[in-house]
Amino acid sequence: MYDIIIIGAGTAGISAYKQAIKKTKNILMINEGPWDTTCARVGCMPSKVLISTANRMHDIQHAENVSLITQATIDTSKVMQHVHDLRDRFTRATLKDVESWDPQHKISGRATFIDKNTVLVNGNKYQAKSFIIAVGSKPAVNPKWKETLKDKLITSDEVFELETLPKSLAIVGSGVIAIELAQAMQRLGVETTVFARSRKIGSLSSPQLQVLAQNLISKELHIKFEILPDEVRRDGPSVSITYTEDHQQKNLKVDYLLLATGRTTHLGNLNLKNIDSSFEDVESLPINKQTKQLSDLPIFIVGDAFTNTPIQHEAAHEGKLAVNNCLNYPEVKNLKTLTPLGIMFSSPEMATVGQSYKQLKEQNIKFITGLVHYEKQGRAIVLGKNKGAIELYVDINTRKLLGAELLVESAEHLAHLLSWMISEELRIDDILQKPFYHPTLEEGIRTALKHARRQLDTIG
Ligand SMILES: Cc1cc2nc3c(=O)[nH]c(=O)nc-3n(C[C@H](O)[C@H](O)[C@H](O)COP(=O)(O)OP(=O)(O)OC[C@H]3O[C@@H](n4cnc5c(N)ncnc54)[C@H](O)[C@@H]3O)c2cc1C
Repeated sequence: MYDIIIIGAGTAGISAYKQAIKKTKNILMINEGPWDTTCARVGCMPSKVLISTANRMHDIQHAENVSLITQATIDTSKVMQHVHDLRDRFTRATLKDVESWDPQHKISGRATFIDKNTVLVNGNKYQAKSFIIAVGSKPAVNPKWKETLKDKLITSDEVFELETLPKSLAIVGSGVIAIELAQAMQRLGVETTVFARSRKIGSLSSPQLQVLAQNLISKELHIKFEILPDEVRRDGPSVSITYTEDHQQKNLKVDYLLLATGRTTHLGNLNLKNIDSSFEDVESLPINKQTKQLSDLPIFIVGDAFTNTPIQHEAAHEGKLAVNNCLNYPEVKNLKTLTPLGIMFSSPEMATVGQSYKQLKEQNIKFITGLVHYEKQGRAIVLGKNKGAIELYVDINTRKLLGAELLVESAEHLAHLLSWMISEELRIDDILQKPFYHPTLEEGIRTALKHARRQLDTIG
C-alpha cells in the first residue's frame, strides 16, 4: 500500500509529487492524458505569448501616443507558429522534469475509485493510505453546438492549436479567459465579436471599476452586452450566428466560434460514489474549503478540481501543502494560506488583491475606499498609457489595507506589491512611510493611500 497516490499530473499534482518525494519514496502518480500541464500546454503560457505579441503590435500601431510616426508593416502570418514554438519550449521543460522521476512512480491512465483506499487504472488496482486528487478541469462545451459546428466550435483547449490566425472570430463569454483571448485576437487583426450574458467583464467586483473596464475595453473590442446567440449553424467554411439585438434578428458570419463560458471539474470521472454513495453529485461534495479534505477521509482535493480561484500559483501551493495533510493525517491543516492575488492580462490589466470589494460588502466589513484615477498620473502619461484606476480598501478601525482592485497598465506588478503589503498586515500609515520613486506608476498607490487617509482622518 502506497503512502500517497496523487491523481492528476498538472500544476497541483506535480507540485505535490515534488514535495512528497522529499519525505517518502512510497508514492504513485496517476495521470490521464498529456503530462505537460494545462498551464503550459493550453493555459497560462500560450495565452500570454499570444497576448504579448498582440500588445506589441498594438503599441507599434499606436506609437503616435508617444509622438512616433511609424511606417511599419506587420506580418502576422507567423504569430501562431511563435505561440507553438514557445508553448513547446514550456511544455518540454515540464516533460523533462517528469521524465526524470522514477518510472515506478508514474502510470498513464484514468484513475477511478473502487473504495476509499483503492483506485483502478487500466484494469489494475492500486491502494494507498491517502490520496491527493488534482484532476483539474476542462472548458464547458455546449454539446448541441458542438454537434452542429464540429471543428468550427473551439475552446481554449483548441485555439492555440490553430495553424494561422483566423480572419474573424466570435467568442461567447466575458470572463477572464474570454476577454484576454478576445482582446489579443482583435489586436492581432482578427475581427472579433464577444457575446456576453451580462454587462460584467473580467474579474473586477467594484461597480465603479466595472463600468470603467466596460467602457475602456469596449472601445477597442466589439462586445454585445446581454446578448447570446439564438442559433448557430455551419455555413460552408463559416459559422453563422443568429442573435437578437434591439428587438431585431441579426446575423454574423465568422470563421470560428470560441466558447469561454467557464470550466467543468474532472471530479465527475473518478467514481467517487464508490467511496460513499452520497458523493455521486460532485457539485455538492463535502469538501472543506480551507483544508481541502473530502469529508473526514485522508483524501485532499487541490487545484482547479475544486476551487473558486482557478489560479496556477494557488494550485501549486495547495498541492505542496496537501502532502503534509496526507502524511500527518488525522492532523489536518489549512491549505488556503496565501493572500488572494488574481491578475487578468487584459489591457489595461485588471487585478484583485486581498479581499475584493464584493467580499468586503458581503461580510459587512467597515472600510473606506482610497481611489486614484490614472488619466492624470505622471508616469502613465509619460508611457502614453494613462487609463483606468485603482481602488484600495482600508479597514476603518485598524487602518490596515484589506484589499484592492486595479485596472491599470502594469497592474500585475502593482498587485504583487499590494498583496505583499496585505500579507504583512500593514497599516496605511506604515505604507506611506515607504519610499516611492518618482516618476513611477507606484506613485499612484501613494495617491490612493493619501485619499484613504484623508477620509479616515475626517472620520476621526
Ligand atoms: C486559457 C487559460 C489561461 C490561463 N491563464 C492563467 C494565468 O495567466 N495565470 C494563472 O495563474 N492561471 C491561469 N490559468 C489557470 C491555470 O492554468 C490553472 O489554475 C492550473 O493549470 C490548474 O492546475 P491543476 O493542477 O489543478 O490542473 P491541470 O493542470 O489541468 O491537471 C489536471 C490533470 O489531471 C488529469 N486527470 C483528470 N482526471 C483524471 C483521472 N480520473 N485520473 C488521472 N488523471 C486525471 C488531467 O488529464 C490533467 O493532466 C489559465 C487557464 C486557462 C485555461
